[in-house]
Amino acid sequence: MKTKGNKKTHVNIVTLGCSKNLVDSEVILTQLRGNGIQASHEDARRQANVVIINTCGFIENAKQESIDTILKYVEAKAEGWVEKVYVTGCLSERYRADLEREIPEVDAYFGTRDLPLLLKTLKADYKHELVGERLLTTPRHYAYLKISEGCDRPCSFCAIPLMRGKHVSTPMETLILQAKNLAKNGTKELILIAQDLTYYGIDLYQKRNLAELLAQLAEIEGIEWIRLQYAFPAGFPLDILEVMAKYPNICKYLDIPLQHASDKMLKLMRRGITRQKTEQLLDTIRQKVPNIAIRTTLIVGHPQETEEDFEQMYDFVEKMRFDRLGIFTYSHEENTHSFSLIDDVPQEIKQERADEIMELQQEIATELNAQKVGQTLKVLFDRKEGGYWVGRTEHDSPEVDNEVLVKADNQYVSVGSFAQVRITSSTEFDLFGEILN
Ligand code: SF4
Repeated sequence: MKTKGNKKTHVNIVTLGCSKNLVDSEVILTQLRGNGIQASHEDARRQANVVIINTCGFIENAKQESIDTILKYVEAKAEGWVEKVYVTGCLSERYRADLEREIPEVDAYFGTRDLPLLLKTLKADYKHELVGERLLTTPRHYAYLKISEGCDRPCSFCAIPLMRGKHVSTPMETLILQAKNLAKNGTKELILIAQDLTYYGIDLYQKRNLAELLAQLAEIEGIEWIRLQYAFPAGFPLDILEVMAKYPNICKYLDIPLQHASDKMLKLMRRGITRQKTEQLLDTIRQKVPNIAIRTTLIVGHPQETEEDFEQMYDFVEKMRFDRLGIFTYSHEENTHSFSLIDDVPQEIKQERADEIMELQQEIATELNAQKVGQTLKVLFDRKEGGYWVGRTEHDSPEVDNEVLVKADNQYVSVGSFAQVRITSSTEFDLFGEILN
């Protein structure tokens, strides 16, 4: 396809938001190249004359970042080094009419399920034969595998179902094919993602089928690590714990956002679980999968959260000692159930509570990491940076968790490979060590 300047089309895809959005960008990249269109991802060299911005519309900060990125490329268009700007993803799905009115310089806006239309606009066809293929934007030794789209959960604060629609599981045979192709192309770590991983299969197979999927993925040659992100606590399928314990290539790691610990708040947030049931679930997970690292995410400052509710969360974090923890301050999102409530917790109180939880978590993380000194751990190396080889253990997901640093001046390891590392020191977020070969 030629653009106005009769210049050959070169598309640059820019991704904002979560790993699920990143997979969508990888699918766009694969389809464009599959159509013979030159395409790149996050290419800062100003060579592309067409830009696709894959936006995030989750919470206030993320929305602002997406709008700033759109305005940046609209300006580039005005300066003439970009000819076409297209916007897709969650923000566009959620606020298309407002965006078309307020930023009309964008050539077209697309929703989260408009890939064929986006491709058509670029004079490309959706190629079904590419469903099992995917070009990666991550280092090729790890890849995200999105096992479903959308979410059926009623969480009161969450706008994701508004942008991603109802839960739709990807057929198991498609996922197995994708995983086999990724393994053939050098992927060693598969990170399973979804809005709600544990809901997998209910729509397609009329039962929770994550355990079956996991067992099949674990049999794929070349896949050395399989990681689970975004599990949901209510109705948690305990059968996956047996599969996790059985297969050494399934990471002893589980990301399970819990959001709160006060029963009053869990009810108000429509999480469908109590604190007691949550603790029982965490105990069962730790019993059935020894040495598992648990990551969670919490939200402070939801409407009607009192000091007493917050103290319950604080006490819960102190007692459950999570290996990894992320904290969000509540964002008052239109058209969510919570939007009908008054956003009555002042922003500074929200931030104070978030800081208090992170301070506590830093102490816990420091203690847990110190216990690893002297241990030998299997590490996957992602990059070389600042005189160090930087990698992760099976307890660490890329971008969000801890890292292992090995001095590069007198030790060598190839990026994308595993090595046994003896841990010599630690901080609250990192481990330092030496390679044992
Ligand atoms: S599980 Fe709840 S928080 Fe997660 S995407 Fe679904 S509705 Fe949102």
